[in-house]
Amino acid sequence: MNTVYFDNAATTKIRTEVLNEMLPFLGRNYGNASSLYSIGRVSKHAIETARKQVASLINCNSNEIYFTSCGTESDNTAIKGIAFANKVKGNHIITSKIEHPAVLESCKFLEQQGFEVTYVGVDSGGFINLDELENSIRPSTVLISIMFANNEIGTIQPVKDIAKIAHEHNIIFHTDAVQAVGNCLVDVQDMGIDLLSLSGHKIHAPKGVGALYVRNGVDFVPFMNGGHQEKSKRAGTENVAEIVGLGKACEIARNNLSSHMSFLLKIRNYYLDRIDKFFSGKYRINGALENRLPR
Ligand SMILES: *Cc1c(COP(=O)(O)O)cnc(C)c1O
Repeated sequence: MNTVYFDNAATTKIRTEVLNEMLPFLGRNYGNASSLYSIGRVSKHAIETARKQVASLINCNSNEIYFTSCGTESDNTAIKGIAFANKVKGNHIITSKIEHPAVLESCKFLEQQGFEVTYVGVDSGGFINLDELENSIRPSTVLISIMFANNEIGTIQPVKDIAKIAHEHNIIFHTDAVQAVGNCLVDVQDMGIDLLSLSGHKIHAPKGVGALYVRNGVDFVPFMNGGHQEKSKRAGTENVAEIVGLGKACEIARNNLSSHMSFLLKIRNYYLDRIDKFFSGKYRINGALENRLPR
């Protein structure tokens, strides 16, 4: 029996090209990227290639990419790292009610540590209200974290407008773009994003690898303490094979972005057409059809 898999928002299958790129690093290329001799340098070089591939997908500098163990770790690092780094400036964070648990639970943890968090709501379309967001800002607000695309219904928040509001008030802006990266255009420079989380297994790389983009000049407290990997911002011997896989998946996602987007739109519309035909009047779509994935 052929399986038809409809849940690429939960996880995706590893692409063959990605797996093939990874395999040497699970076999003969086992060097520690921090070692100075040749097999170490092979690993180091592979990681730096992957860093460029990830950076190129979201249009940042490769030295603004930090590899992590997953999207969850990227979110934890961004939220706690910015909160702790700015503790003297203020203790207030703004996020939304529809964030992934990786963001919501990080914020709840910070509340237990004495931080204050405002959770803005969404309208029936699934979008946050920019006036509500701006009205939530306090002199003590140090971070706004709003997801790019929602993992349940796919609605895309007005990220560029949110970044503008944040910066007008001198606030750092983080976005969980785990569902957006590879599925719609994500350009951190054009959109004014300061920190961005992404995850390998949502874009045809393996589970257990992610990345955090942090704009140069934005300081954060590391989530992992230990060795000097990732400019001392994320300790732990690098998971070379998975990082290589993430890099390759990002390269493919970048090259295929427009065809992938039109393909998704086509099957989405086909599916909606069918539902409409067979269940007319008996179904409801959660959230707006505009400004959502796929687009
Ligand atoms: C999947 C997902 C995460 C978590 O990523 P993991 O790599 O599974 O830890 C975070 N945010 C969103 C929006 C997601 O869809």
